[in-house]
Amino acid sequence: MTVHSAQSDQPGLALSRYVVASEAFVERGSERVHRLVLATRSGRIFRFDATLWEDLCKGRFSRVPAPAIERLIEANLLVGDRTGELAEVLRENDAAISKTTRLYQVIQPSAFCQLGCTYCGQTHSRRRLDEANQKRILERIERKLRNRRYDLLHVGWFGAEPLAGLASLRALSPCLKEIASRHGADYSAHIVTNGVKLDVATARELATEHNVQSAEITLDGPAREHDARRFFKTGGPSFDRILANLIDVARQPDLPLALRIRCNVDARNAHSVEQLIDVLADAGLAGRINVYFAPIHDWGNAASDLALAPETYARNELDWTVYAMSRGFSMGLLPTRKKIVCMAVQPDSEVIDAYGNIFNCTETPYVDAYGSPNRHRIGTLQHDDVNRSVNRFGVFNADVADGSYGCSKCPMLPVCGGACPKSWNEGQAACPSFKHNMPDRLLVAHALSKLVDSLEELECSEEGV
Ligand code: SF4
Ligand code: SF4
Repeated sequence: MTVHSAQSDQPGLALSRYVVASEAFVERGSERVHRLVLATRSGRIFRFDATLWEDLCKGRFSRVPAPAIERLIEANLLVGDRTGELAEVLRENDAAISKTTRLYQVIQPSAFCQLGCTYCGQTHSRRRLDEANQKRILERIERKLRNRRYDLLHVGWFGAEPLAGLASLRALSPCLKEIASRHGADYSAHIVTNGVKLDVATARELATEHNVQSAEITLDGPAREHDARRFFKTGGPSFDRILANLIDVARQPDLPLALRIRCNVDARNAHSVEQLIDVLADAGLAGRINVYFAPIHDWGNAASDLALAPETYARNELDWTVYAMSRGFSMGLLPTRKKIVCMAVQPDSEVIDAYGNIFNCTETPYVDAYGSPNRHRIGTLQHDDVNRSVNRFGVFNADVADGSYGCSKCPMLPVCGGACPKSWNEGQAACPSFKHNMPDRLLVAHALSKLVDSLEELECSEEGV
């Protein structure tokens, strides 16, 4: 439900522009009509009597009890100055960027991937990070740790397929840990992998020797749909091998590696998402892995031509989410405040590819469509300096402040951050699904909380017997 402002009956008090309301509903056993309202600046959710909510929307604050007004001000649902809110949200975002104590670096140890996914925009080669570039990476990261106080160095091992460069990862990882420790910072990592090489031995090595805390693996449906999109370059199917790895790794009781499945969805495989959930649940993976869904996006190509319409995707996604919950998976429904949209806006964060090129965005390396040299390249390991102004990703918040994108007028900005500077720069709205299904998410989350409450009551009464 879109919320519009109105004339206030109390000067200096207004309804925040950062609120999202559900449709009106009536609880079972009650005759009162309510609405759920999310204040996106604070992430707090309120259940309002529909009349009270109407008073708030119409600026009739004198009808609202003073203690309630206090609580709503504290939650940033009521504000003193609506017109200054965008600037305030962006100020908080900029402050979070400048104050961060987490140094995030993405390293692509290989330019190769065994798979030839239909929607991939990358061109792969057998190139791996060589010793000279490994040494430059270590010097570069140490310089950053020396120049500024960081509590954590976090590395994302990314592709092409990072496990195709396992030798480089093995060589770099102990040195990265040592550098972080020398500068008083902790060290952690995650990996985004196709899962083909993620057997138990590799997963154990990643987790126990290289501080890799989580792995993200893509499965685009059950075997038939996945294999039609994510097949080996040599032509064979990949699903069975990836799933076997996943099951083996997830069943290790003492392996501290969180597994997350990403399912890329477009019009071709949307019908099969629930089948994938069934496959994973039937394999006993509920409670052991996490699952999330993502609409297919352009990667310097026209992959998104096959995407579902955003509203259709959002509607389906909520159904898949509820279905996954019904099969025992833990799913996130409500976003929290997001102050740093992505690495592109963090001046110290870089993506380094296997050739020694440096970027500010994970989706730009190895993409021939971005030219030669790649127009998004901000530098190379041969030179200390980079030029982040080759694109406008890094000044995204300033562009939002100027009203360049829809984000400047969007009530989701505090919990979305703008989603993806690259997409907006390429003229595509980057909106996550919750832009379209948040009112329903609120209702589902509320229904679930009621269900949990009623279950607890049942348990109590049984205990009392
Ligand atoms: S600009 Fe978009 S694609 Fe690039 S790192 Fe940020 S969120 Fe990812
Ligand atoms: S990306 Fe979309 S949902 Fe997110 S703030 Fe911008 S307009 Fe809103």
